[in-house]
Amino acid sequence: MRVTSLRFEGFRNLENSEIRPCPGVNVIYGTNAQGKTNLVEAIWLLSGNRSFRGAKDSELIGFGSDHAKLHADFFSEGREQSAEIVYAKGKKEILLNGVNQPSTSALLGRLCAVVFSPEHLSLVKSGPSERRSFIDGAVCQIKPSFKEALSEYKRTLAQRNTLLKDIPAHPELADTLDAWDIRLASLGAGIVRIRMKYVERLCECASRYHDGISHGREALEISYSSTIPKEYRASADSARDYMLNYMQKNRREDLSAGFTTIGPHRDDIDITINGGSVRTFGSQGQQRSCVLSMKIAEEELIKLSVSEEPLVLLDDVLSELDSTRQEFLLNEIGDRQVFITCCEAASVERLKDGKLFKINGGRIEA
Ligand code: ATP
Ligand code: MG
Repeated sequence: MRVTSLRFEGFRNLENSEIRPCPGVNVIYGTNAQGKTNLVEAIWLLSGNRSFRGAKDSELIGFGSDHAKLHADFFSEGREQSAEIVYAKGKKEILLNGVNQPSTSALLGRLCAVVFSPEHLSLVKSGPSERRSFIDGAVCQIKPSFKEALSEYKRTLAQRNTLLKDIPAHPELADTLDAWDIRLASLGAGIVRIRMKYVERLCECASRYHDGISHGREALEISYSSTIPKEYRASADSARDYMLNYMQKNRREDLSAGFTTIGPHRDDIDITINGGSVRTFGSQGQQRSCVLSMKIAEEELIKLSVSEEPLVLLDDVLSELDSTRQEFLLNEIGDRQVFITCCEAASVERLKDGKLFKINGGRIEA
């Protein structure tokens, strides 16, 4: 998958213009507040996603403009295609290959991308829910039916939790809990096993990549850490039976807590470098490299399943990385189209191949 042309009109601070990226590494270089992240955000929006900065549509329209238009020509599935989004006050128009689409999610999977921006460091810095949503989002990209499994689990969990809260006042409801336990255990075991298998594959790819970026000095390990112990996760039946037995044995605890204390909603992933938790012991550069390795592994797993390599968008990753790590990133990232932003000219000099775009006050020059 390759973007051949990008056009901006009234988008944030970017001047109306067209750029022609190269199929390999594209570096967007400029001082602070010139529009680098805006450019990366535009590509991310064209891939059907919502802003990674949490921006509302109205905030994307340039000051003094009444609409914003983003257009990409790209090569995918063996042919030239195009995607376009027009943001106007209160409405939005989406075109795929010139045909109107009901929503931006129609662009998902057409122009695939993975993005890394400083916000994504929350993957190692924040709590377990960030990591669970990363895994769930990544699995959904290659297995869309997982979304439904997750929603059904959430619905069932909410029902059981409501019942746990109601039972103290209405003890006669206790009998109905069994049916919810059975349903929840079977759905929960399925989710745990899918996530666990994904994390195993992610770890394999990410640790290989991390080995490269750290020049063999750091061993990255990612493992699924579940409320269902590892020995019970070998088969769906044993995972389900463990979860069911646990809920039944610990019913009193669940009743006094008012919620379900076991299941995938309580799980996490452990991320370690040379055996130490990255969250607790990792340096800034190590945390950054580790998230980067995970993001590139995510991309590799999408590529394996959809046989198209997604674009890699790297916003502001070079800062905090030493020169050998920067060099690896710029030159060894492989056969992908990459967009990478940076502030320092020194970083750019390490680029052997690729295209350089200088951005100044929203004006982009190749
Ligand atoms: P940094 O190196 O600090 O990350 P950057 O080059 O990534 O900087 P951007 O985040 O792309 O900078 O933002 C560039 C400028 O765009 C900011 O000064 C911001 O005020 C401006 N900007 C954001 N939204 C709009 C908008 N809707 N219209 C006009 N300008 C905007
Ligand atoms: Mg920026």
